[in-house]
Amino acid sequence: MADKISKKWVLQFPPNQVDKPIAYHLVKDFNLVINILQASAHEEKESFMIVEVIGRKKDIDNAFDFLQTQEIEVVDMEKGITLNVNTCIHCGLCVGLCPTTALTIDPKTHEVCFEKKDCVVCDLCLKYCPVAAIEMEFLK
Ligand code: SF4
Ligand code: SF4
Repeated sequence: MADKISKKWVLQFPPNQVDKPIAYHLVKDFNLVINILQASAHEEKESFMIVEVIGRKKDIDNAFDFLQTQEIEVVDMEKGITLNVNTCIHCGLCVGLCPTTALTIDPKTHEVCFEKKDCVVCDLCLKYCPVAAIEMEFLK
């Protein structure tokens, strides 16, 4: 287990491609463990799935390359989700809602901090932030 890493990806499917057995391939062909964090399927418009993949770096890289050949856009969550520090008013509402420790308050500055690696994309901060300071490009 020591050499295993995890990544969170947003997979964006073009219309009518949502029934591709992508999860099956990730598990069977690339020896990955996957957790589906969110999914939204549409016949007529783009669909998306947010997954956490766990496995060896080489297998994850190969799976990433495979997805590129399947007309599926892959966005690494490390790049896709942000806390806009210019918009945030540090009201702390999201910290109380966040089910993980992705959002915390710095005890010294009293400002809200966001740790991407701990985010499970539950959407709560996105829904309830009064100034839309959490931005998820792929959900727009
Ligand atoms: S709810 Fe929005 S404005 Fe309030 S601390 Fe969280 S991100 Fe900042
Ligand atoms: S999406 Fe959910 S887990 Fe991620 S920061 Fe917002 S409340 Fe926390």
